[in-house]
Amino acid sequence: HMEQSEKKLVVLGAGESGVGAAVLAKQKGYDVFVSDSGLIAEDYKQQLIDLNIEFEEGSHTEGRVLNADIIVKSPGIPQKAAIVKKVREKGIEVLSEIEFAARYTLAKLICITGSNGKSTTATLTWFILQKAGLNVGLAGNIGKSFALQVANESFDYYVLEISSFMLDDMTQLKADFAVLLNITPDHLDRYDYKMENYVESKFKIIQNQREDDFFIYDIDDEEILNGLRKYKSKATYIPFSQQKILSEGAFLDENSTIIIKVTNQPTFAMSINELALQGKHNVYNNMASGIVAKVLELRNESIRESMGEYQNIAHRLEHVAQIAGINFINDSKATNVNSVWYALESMPANVVLIMGGVDKGNDYNILKDLIHSKVSAIVCIGKDNARIHEAFDDETDVIVNTSSMKEAVTLAYHLAKKGDTVLLSPACASFDLFKNYEDRGDQFKAAVREL
Ligand code: ADP
Repeated sequence: HMEQSEKKLVVLGAGESGVGAAVLAKQKGYDVFVSDSGLIAEDYKQQLIDLNIEFEEGSHTEGRVLNADIIVKSPGIPQKAAIVKKVREKGIEVLSEIEFAARYTLAKLICITGSNGKSTTATLTWFILQKAGLNVGLAGNIGKSFALQVANESFDYYVLEISSFMLDDMTQLKADFAVLLNITPDHLDRYDYKMENYVESKFKIIQNQREDDFFIYDIDDEEILNGLRKYKSKATYIPFSQQKILSEGAFLDENSTIIIKVTNQPTFAMSINELALQGKHNVYNNMASGIVAKVLELRNESIRESMGEYQNIAHRLEHVAQIAGINFINDSKATNVNSVWYALESMPANVVLIMGGVDKGNDYNILKDLIHSKVSAIVCIGKDNARIHEAFDDETDVIVNTSSMKEAVTLAYHLAKKGDTVLLSPACASFDLFKNYEDRGDQFKAAVREL
């Protein structure tokens, strides 16, 4: 029997999750080494130095990495990376940060995934639970890493936002609650452009579930229905729908009231007009969070209060300002076509839409009707605009190209009339002109405030 203090653990990648994993591993007595092929941010470096954790940056020292007993791989490092391949060839155990951290907590894990709405639903669920007095943390692809929180906190529950990168790496994690919001094309470049591969990845969220677990899912979603035929779990299945009346789960009645029925619990009811988060997509998000809350036996009154109060995180249909009667809305987090559909669906006409960036193999067809009926002009920002022109030349009067946020916002402002909305909802990744979607949204807000 080997003591953990003799076990060598190597963390590949020193971002939020890698550094968190290193801190937890050190605390648990592993001999820890962190290796990043790029540069490590100063504050992370300082954390490692403070805890006496050895690290390297700029390249992986193969001898050292391949000498590990366990590897914790950051989600950003592809499975195809040369170093990961070598580690696997040697038969070294490879874990994700989430799976490593899960070994050291007895907390119940509420895992939220889907193509869109993950952050909103994870944060909303966390908000409802903590308002009701549960000792609950929020982690995963959001805020402080799960591993760091497991090292420093003692929560009874964690709400985990599970990104598609994290799902791809998932083999052992058991979700006490698995929430699958929707499956619409995104990142298809990573799945050989095959929808079934993408669906398979999303259904990993249920792969280790047992009888006393719960699977909460959108039954209106075609791809989820396809997946249900193929992938099974032993959990209790609880669906939600805006199209059907259900005997168990969440649905809308004829008065647009959300009804949630869960075994042995009083029925929950709340009009969609009372929800703090408006828009059809947010009805789904509230349904998913509400089911989790009901299964945990929270009081209806408490759930309703939280759903009525919750303020969304920045960059999701965030109202920035009204200038000359024109509303400016920052939806920078809309990095795929489907989230733009929901954004437009929830807007009144006319919209001047700022979109574009790094195209991920987008299919813009589903947007055509909404662009035709609501959008008077499209202002493209970014390097990949040919496909936007191709898709929408016949649907809207004006499509123009710009190469900075300031230029895009100024132009959009001139194209809009009183009563219109200028909406930043890009449908694309941001890495051509911006650091990330937050930077893109922040630059949008700054440019609006300068008008
Ligand atoms: P994620 O974390 O999955 O990227 P967010 O909650 O950050 O999702 O929302 C991203 C974008 O997707 C937002 O701009 C929002 O307008 C849109 N969105 C939110 N929830 C949903 C949903 N359930 N279905 C479709 N689009 C959604």
